[in-house]
Amino acid sequence: MEAEEKAFDTRHRAILNYNIDKYDVSVARGLSRIANLENAKKKGHVIKWRTMENLDKFLPEFEANFQKRGGKVIWANDVEEAQREVLNIIKRSNAKSVVKSKSMVTEELHLNEFFEANGVESLETDLGEYIVQLLGQKPYHIVTPAMHLSKEDIAKLFHEKFGTPLDYTPQQMAQKARELLRDKYREADIGITGANFLLADTGSVAVSENEGNARLCTTFPKIHIAIAGIEKVIPSIMDLDLYWPMLSTHGTGQNLTVYNNILSGPRQAGETDGPEEMYVILLDNGRTNLLAQKEQREGLYCIRCGACLNACPIYKNIGGHTYNTPYSGPIGSVITPHLRGMKEFKHLSNSSSLCGKCTEVCPVKIEIHKMLLLNRRDTVKDKLVDKKERWGWSIWKKAMLSRGKMDFLSRGWKNKLMNMFFKKTWGKYRDMPVVADKSFSTMWKEKNKES
Ligand code: SF4
Repeated sequence: MEAEEKAFDTRHRAILNYNIDKYDVSVARGLSRIANLENAKKKGHVIKWRTMENLDKFLPEFEANFQKRGGKVIWANDVEEAQREVLNIIKRSNAKSVVKSKSMVTEELHLNEFFEANGVESLETDLGEYIVQLLGQKPYHIVTPAMHLSKEDIAKLFHEKFGTPLDYTPQQMAQKARELLRDKYREADIGITGANFLLADTGSVAVSENEGNARLCTTFPKIHIAIAGIEKVIPSIMDLDLYWPMLSTHGTGQNLTVYNNILSGPRQAGETDGPEEMYVILLDNGRTNLLAQKEQREGLYCIRCGACLNACPIYKNIGGHTYNTPYSGPIGSVITPHLRGMKEFKHLSNSSSLCGKCTEVCPVKIEIHKMLLLNRRDTVKDKLVDKKERWGWSIWKKAMLSRGKMDFLSRGWKNKLMNMFFKKTWGKYRDMPVVADKSFSTMWKEKNKES
């Protein structure tokens, strides 16, 4: 229902198209600076393939190296376990407030709601995340959380919340947010980040960001917790040479993200900054289900650049919130049914025109549109498709394979049956196809009779 509303909301579409158009221009400029893009993509794919095929080697290697420098690794099977572990750290350290930098995995854990329910103050510090938190919304896009808002929308929000003038410029609003957030970093007991990459050979967490807020979240508070899906590991720090520019060019068109941090454990003896304790929570939460699917596991290669979202004609119409999952767009439609249940989320794999644009733009060459088809195949194989639809297709197949059966029913009956089985899925905004007065074979026979 929400998808229908969004698709016909012209204001929503205008804001989204305006922001995606700007993105397209920057990305085209950024990509033109990569000497051999196709080779870079292939290399990115192969490294991820090697990692996913050897996760049982790279994850323990990361763990051992991170522990060597005093870091602590916690393995969490699902949302509840991860929440419980975070709460344990909070209780043990008697923490009252948390500052967070942008992280989709913490959305997966519903961490802000969880903190609120447990009386812990939690503040998003990325500007886009801060804005959606003020609105009580979820991030709209995996890279650009407030992509659905115009600058006028944000000025109005700031006016209502902080009394700033309605004609505040983006620069003035960023300055206001900076002033409001600065003290919060100093006061916070715990900083929470995600991880763009986990580096197995050095036992480090790599976090890329444009605003410096992740740096503040990881240096001021006494405790830093990095939460990452198990698929974030890559073999070596040397691989960042490839993945950092690929992430930034495909994500925003920048040659490199402004701040690229490599964090290798808590503050060491003789160091002047950094947290006293550092934890990495390695989250499964359905990822091993996807890993078990030989044909679809490449969905785990994703580096969350967001390029496939911006390229997708469906995303451009219905936007990010409609997916009702932290990972929206084409890649979200591939992985969510495996992470959260095929039965409940199978519809996402159907919300695609299969145009293949997502596959074309992916920096790690995930065959996204093929994965969507494989998900669809699995829903049919596992009989998760609606009974009426199954019957409809089975009758259609029988009829299509036999001219006699095809001609057996009159035009009126054919139209009636199509309406009965497919009208609901076809939707109220599209006209059902109508069977012609005369079939091709009848016309052919008549024509041959005449001649
Ligand atoms: S699937 Fe590819 S294009 Fe889409 S977000 Fe992931 S890395 Fe980017």
